[in-house]
Amino acid sequence: MLLDHLRSFGTARVAMGIEVVGLDGRSDDVQVTLRDVETGETRIVHARYLIAADGARSTIRDALGIAMRGPGRLSQAIGTEFRAPLWDLLGGRRYCIYAVTHPDAAGVFVPAGRGDRWVYGVEHDLAQEPAPRLTKEQSARLIRLGIGLTDLEPRVDRIGTFTFAAQLADRWREGAAFLVGDAAHQITPRGGTGMNTAIQSAYDLGWKLAWVLRGWAGPQLLDTYEAERRPVAAHNVARSADPHGGARLAAHELPADLGGRIPHVWLPSRANAVSTLDLLGPGLTLFTTDPSASWQRAASSIPGPPLVVRNLDAITARGMGIPHGGALLARPDGAPAGWWPSRTEPDAALRHAIRALPTPSEAVDRSAEGASAR
Ligand SMILES: Cc1cc2nc3c(=O)[nH]c(=O)nc-3n(C[C@H](O)[C@H](O)[C@H](O)COP(=O)(O)OP(=O)(O)OC[C@H]3O[C@@H](n4cnc5c(N)ncnc54)[C@H](O)[C@@H]3O)c2cc1C
Repeated sequence: MLLDHLRSFGTARVAMGIEVVGLDGRSDDVQVTLRDVETGETRIVHARYLIAADGARSTIRDALGIAMRGPGRLSQAIGTEFRAPLWDLLGGRRYCIYAVTHPDAAGVFVPAGRGDRWVYGVEHDLAQEPAPRLTKEQSARLIRLGIGLTDLEPRVDRIGTFTFAAQLADRWREGAAFLVGDAAHQITPRGGTGMNTAIQSAYDLGWKLAWVLRGWAGPQLLDTYEAERRPVAAHNVARSADPHGGARLAAHELPADLGGRIPHVWLPSRANAVSTLDLLGPGLTLFTTDPSASWQRAASSIPGPPLVVRNLDAITARGMGIPHGGALLARPDGAPAGWWPSRTEPDAALRHAIRALPTPSEAVDRSAEGASAR
């Protein structure tokens, strides 16, 4: 789905079976050596910016000489891929993870694809004991014990191990190269936030790069990527290192996960469900209930990034914490960039909020940029 979406822009080229084998980075141009895995042929590409999304063992991070900090071998999980007809046993109790607490077979069963394909994961605390090497027969015996069916005959396809690491890269940027995802922050599977954090970091860097490349913001905006995302990653890394981190109360973790994003509120009287989050655009979005259209008039006359005004009904606005006649300005990621009560002077308020964003030295012509953004 993501590949189709990327290709739909028509401007992105996707190359498969290609690996990065070398890097020469300067602040205004990155030179990357690519190798075709099949033919061994190499070629060099130049890029204005480089995003290293190459995972925990990032080649690019190593080439940039950026170290990881934190425990690299907390514990080890043994994952057994197997096939067995478990859905009949589970009936209507369909979940994405089944935890088993049997003292001799504690672990998790995770559905892994269509049909009867499953993964059975068992964690071993490396401080206490080395992880054993299991044969297929030993794995099948543990699976039987965990499931509670003595006559089950699971077909074990593969047994693999995975080491838990909870680490942060020393820095996430070197000139024009940025680290994202596991390359920047390695999070153990406890609590299941590794990919969530990776996607959020990629989204943060993505809209900021887009703003800079479109001339909507100055390059200083890119410095806010690590400043804003590092505390969240550090929190999730630390939580995942805690053996009980996956069981923390959701209410305590929401500030890290959603981090002050504007509230999700369903809009009324729409055939298809539309959330306030769906109203965010690639530029700034101003939510208001102002019947006099004074925010609308101010928004269309102020220089800066594209700004779309969304007029809300009183109840939706109430759900978002916007007082009658007031307004809320949000970034593409839903982080508020301004919040105002009624009887605010819109022109001065918006100018102040937009000036607080790292903007390019020359004001942007919103009418032209806004049209392309929409
Ligand atoms: C057992 C397990 C369970 C997990 N469960 C969860 C969960 O429930 N929820 C959650 O949010 N996260 C979970 N995670 C974490 C999640 O899988 C990772 O955080 C996520 O995959 C990181 O994405 P990424 O794109 O940064 O890196 P990766 O997914 O590792 O992708 C990196 C890509 O870069 C490619 N690559 C590497 N080197 C090069 C090179 N030199 N040139 C070109 N390409 C290269 C790789 O082939 C790979 O395709 C789990 C992880 C594990 C191991």
